[in-house]
Order: sequence, then C-alpha cells, then structure tokens
Amino acid sequence: MSSRPLAPPIEDALGRPLGDLRVSVTDRCNFRCRYCMPREKFGAEHQFLPRAELLSFEELSRLTALLSGQLRKVRLTGGEPLLRKDLPDLVRRLKREAGLPLALTTNGVLLPRFAAELADAGLDRLTVSLDALDEAVFRRVTDADYGVENVLAGLEAAERAGFSRVKINCVVRRGYNESEILPLARHFRGRGHVLRFIEYMDVGATNGWSSADVVSATSIVERIDGELPLEPVERALPTDVASRYRYRDGSGEVGVIASVSQPFCGSCSRLRLSADGKLHTCLFAATGTDVRGPLRRGATDEELFELVQRLWQQRTDRYSELRAQLIMPRRKLEMSYLGG
Ligand code: SAM
Ligand code: SF4
Ligand code: SF4
Repeated sequence: MSSRPLAPPIEDALGRPLGDLRVSVTDRCNFRCRYCMPREKFGAEHQFLPRAELLSFEELSRLTALLSGQLRKVRLTGGEPLLRKDLPDLVRRLKREAGLPLALTTNGVLLPRFAAELADAGLDRLTVSLDALDEAVFRRVTDADYGVENVLAGLEAAERAGFSRVKINCVVRRGYNESEILPLARHFRGRGHVLRFIEYMDVGATNGWSSADVVSATSIVERIDGELPLEPVERALPTDVASRYRYRDGSGEVGVIASVSQPFCGSCSRLRLSADGKLHTCLFAATGTDVRGPLRRGATDEELFELVQRLWQQRTDRYSELRAQLIMPRRKLEMSYLGG
C-alpha cells in the first residue's frame, strides 16, 4: 500500500470518498466473450472508436496526476488494454507523473509479449481474467482464436517478469462455466496467485442478462468448501470488493465478488474514465461526463479538478442496491467501452 499523504477526500452525496480510478484505454478486444462483446453485436461492422477520439497518453497522465492526491490506486482496463499501442509507455508516464500504485486487468494472451516491459515500466499489479481451464468451455465463453494455453503462457510470462500474487478473475455464468469452479480452485491453489470468482452482472445492453444466470457467491464458496475446506479472512480495506477465504490446509486464498447478491455500493469509491474521455460514477451509468472536450479546449488544471469534484459531489449511484427493485437506467453502456 502507498504511504503517500492523501489530500482531503472528495465525498459524494452519500458520503462516499473518491478513492480509485479505472481507466479504459481502448474499446477494442481480441476476445469476443459471450457476456461482454458477443460477436453478433461486435462483428466486422462494429464501429470502434477512431484513434483521434481516444484520450492521448499525455491527456490521461495529466488527468490522473491532478487527481492523484485523492486516489489510492489506478487500474488500466478496456476492452483489452494490451491492444493499446505502446501501453508500457503509458505505464511509465503514469508512474512518473501521478506516482500512484498502478494495476492492469487483461485477458492475458498478450502478456508473453508485454509482461517484462510492463514490469520494467513500473506496473505494480496484474489481474488476469480466466473463465475456464477446459478448452471447449473456454472457447465457448471467449469465442476467439486463442486457447487456455495462451492465457497460461501469459501468466507464466508475468511470473518470470516478477509479478507475484496475480489476481485471476473468473466470471461465473450459469450454464456456461460453473463446472470450472472446482478445476480452477484446484489448479491455482498453492501457486501464490489469488483466484476470485465474480457473479455475472447485467452490464451493458448486449449480453441478455437474466438473474437466473447468476451463480451466487455463497453457492460458489459452498462448492469449493465441500472439497477444499475454507475459512473466512478479514478484508484488508473496507472498500475491498472481494470476500476473502483461505484454504484451511494453508495452500492460499480464494475470493468471491458478490456484486449481484450482496452489493457493495455503500463503500464504492470508483470513478471510471472511458477510452474517449467520459467520466462515469457507476459501472451501470447510462451517460458520462465529457472531460476530453474541456481538456482539448485548454481547460486549466483547476478547472478540470473542479469538474471532477462537482461530478463526484453530486453522485448518488447505487445501482446494484436498487437492482433488486428493478430500477434500471434506460440505456446502459457496454463493459468493453467503459472498462471493467
Ligand atoms: N479485457 C480485459 C479482461 O478481460 O480482463 C479487461 C476488461 S474486462 C471488461 C474486465 C473484467 O470484467 C474481466 O475480468 C471480465 O471478465 C469482467 N466482466 C466483463 N463483463 C462482465 C459481466 N457482465 N459480469 C461480470 N464481470 C464481467
Ligand atoms: Fe474482451 Fe475482457 Fe470483454 Fe472478454 S471480458 S470481451 S477479454 S474486454
Ligand atoms: Fe459502485 Fe455502481 Fe457498482 Fe454500486 S453499482 S458498487 S455504485 S459501480
């Protein structure tokens, strides 16, 4: 954890301080996960953002640096962030100009090419998504020209580059990959990484989500505990989203993220920045606040800071808490655009 002194927190309308920034660096991806970018909706005709509309590295670092007093960490995501040209240069620049702990979420298949460069540029932490070890299940979920071995090779490259305690994220969707819960737990136990199972969420408007598709965190823990006994571990920070468990035999930890069944809106401190420079105060936001326009029209640091401050202070989002009552925004944004 960083020992930097934080500036006075900016609190939203429900008293939640701003604490984390998630930056989507591209809306493109080399996978077509069925639950995120289904090929029918993200096919050859899909219009991805043109390059000129993406925030430049200079713009991204400027924004991040001016919020650095408020932030505990920054996470780079996408789309697939390693598809953004010269991403290690952005990492180097963010570390130099914002000086914050920096994490990256990736599907892993480009890590053999980039892991060493990312470590050298100062990236602190890695999260790799992996929804199945079984080849057929993996391919059915990801719908791309890559196999499980490409992700595992990415993880090995990350280890060789010095990344330890890599988080492995698995989204569990009923009827697709519940059969993979135990194989994944068995595989990653004792390897020093932290496997985390995530409840499938109704992000965006293209994945045809139904609550019947959600496998609850409680039932995931029960399944694992039935074969590999678990005990709960205290959360390190109240804002941590994962409930943690350790294997009773000392072979490591596993986590569950109960985004649907036990929402954590009450402690949500995340601001999201889309690849084209829109700020979103919730993963389920229907609209964003443009920051690219002001940046490109010559706004001062003070003006940009005030824009973010005003936005955060007005924030009342608690979508997941309201989901149960079926209060949904009219049009939600895609995860690949907004960043997970
Ligand atoms: N492409 C990178 C990856 O897959 O790790 C980064 C972006 S991806 C949108 C970030 C994370 O969001 C991934 O772990 C992915 O599994 C998760 N995700 C995407 N759609 C989701 C959904 N509907 N429910 C829960 N998690 C989801
Ligand atoms: Fe791509 Fe990640 Fe979405 Fe899968 S979850 S389609 S890898 S952005
Ligand atoms: Fe935060 Fe919105 Fe998720 Fe609630 S639903 S935890 S406010 S991102």
